[in-house]
Amino acid sequence: MTDMSPSSRRPGSRNGRTLRTAGDLADAGAIPRDRVDAIADVVGRYAVAVTPALLELIDRSDPDDPIARQFIPDRDELAVTPEERADPIGDNAHEVAPGLIHRYPDRVLLKFVSVCAVYCRFCFRRETVGHGEALSQSELAAALAYVGDHAGIWEVIVSGGDPLVAAPRRLQALTAALAAIPHVKVIRFHTRVPVVAPERITPDMIDALTAPGATTWIAVHANHARELTPAAGAALGRLADAGMPLVSQTVLLRGVNDDAGAMADLMRALVEARVKPYYLHHPDLAPGTGHFRVPMAEGRALTKALRGRVSGLCQPTYVLDVPGGHGKVPVGPDYIHGKNGTCQVEDFQGRRHPYPEAAVDRRPESQPRRQKRG
Ligand SMILES: *Cc1c(COP(=O)(O)O)cnc(C)c1O
Ligand code: SF4
Repeated sequence: MTDMSPSSRRPGSRNGRTLRTAGDLADAGAIPRDRVDAIADVVGRYAVAVTPALLELIDRSDPDDPIARQFIPDRDELAVTPEERADPIGDNAHEVAPGLIHRYPDRVLLKFVSVCAVYCRFCFRRETVGHGEALSQSELAAALAYVGDHAGIWEVIVSGGDPLVAAPRRLQALTAALAAIPHVKVIRFHTRVPVVAPERITPDMIDALTAPGATTWIAVHANHARELTPAAGAALGRLADAGMPLVSQTVLLRGVNDDAGAMADLMRALVEARVKPYYLHHPDLAPGTGHFRVPMAEGRALTKALRGRVSGLCQPTYVLDVPGGHGKVPVGPDYIHGKNGTCQVEDFQGRRHPYPEAAVDRRPESQPRRQKRG
C-alpha cells in the first residue's frame, strides 16, 4: 500500500515547514481559502500541527481522505456533547505529582512534555496537550523521586504529548535517571514521531532511549496503513535494529479505520514494519470528537472480523479506558457462550462448538461452589 502513497508524486515538499494556522493550511491547499475564518476558531481552541511528511500523505483529490481527517481541523470539533469531558480517562484522579499518573500498582505514566509533532483532531488529552510547557526541572525531580520511593513501580511509561519531540540530550538524561532506579526494569515510550516525523529518529535519538539497567520498549501510535510510508518503515527499522521491541496503539476512528479491510491493512503494515499490534482503543470521550466515535458494537464486530482472517500477529486487543480513571479493560467480542457445563466456543467463522468444560473444571473441595444462576 505504501507504493500508492501520494508522497511519490510530490517529492519536493519534504523541505517545507510544519503548518500551524488556518492561513498556513489554506496556503498549502489543505483547506479551502473561504474556510479560513471558520477553521481559525478551531485552531484557537485546539492546537494544530501538520508536518511536511503528513502533508505529502494527504490525497487532496479525496474529500474523505483518512489522513486529512486525522490532522486537518474541522468545524465539527466545536460541537461538544454532554457526555464528553475535558479529562476523559481520569488522569487527574491519579496524578501523584505534576505530570505523573499512578493508576496501576506496577507502573506509572509520565507526561514528559505537553507538545506533539502533530496534533490529532481526536486527541484524548487535547485540553492539555499543545497548551502548556514541558515539566520544569524541579517537577521532573519530584516525579523521579516519587518513582524512586515506590519500590512497586516496575515500569515507567514516558508519554505526553509526545516525548520524542524532546531533544535527545534531555531524553538521555531521563532514560539514565530512570534506569538508575533499581526497581525500574522497563521504560516504555509512547510516540507518534517514527510515523509522522521519521527524520527525528537519528542515531542520537536512538542512543537517548536506552540506558543500562532497564529495557526500553516503544509503543507507536498509527491509525491508517498509509501512515506506514517507506520513511516511517525505515525509522521503525532503526529502532528495532537497536534492540527495542515495538508495539502499536491505534484509535478506532470513524472515517479513518472503521472497516475491517482498512484495519487489516493497518495491522499488516505494522507487522511488516516489525511492530506488534498491541491496543486498539475505543475512542475516548474527548471534547469535540463526536464525529470520530464508533459504537462499541461496531468495534466488537470489526475486531471479530479480524480474528482468523488475518494472522494472529495482526490482532490488537480492543480496549476501553473507563471514564473516571478506572483504567483500561478489554471490550472485544466474546467467544464463549452458555453456562458452566454447557459451554460453547465460537470459532472464527461464527460456528459454535460444545466444549466439555465441566470435565476439566475441578475446583478444590474447600472452595465454596458458586451459586447456580439462571
Ligand atoms: C494507559 C495507561 C497505562 C498503560 O497501560 P497498559 O495496559 O500497561 O498499556 C499506564 N498508566 C496510565 C495512567 C495509563 O493511562
Ligand atoms: S500524538 Fe497522542 S498526545 Fe499527541 S495529539 Fe495525537 S493523540 Fe494527542
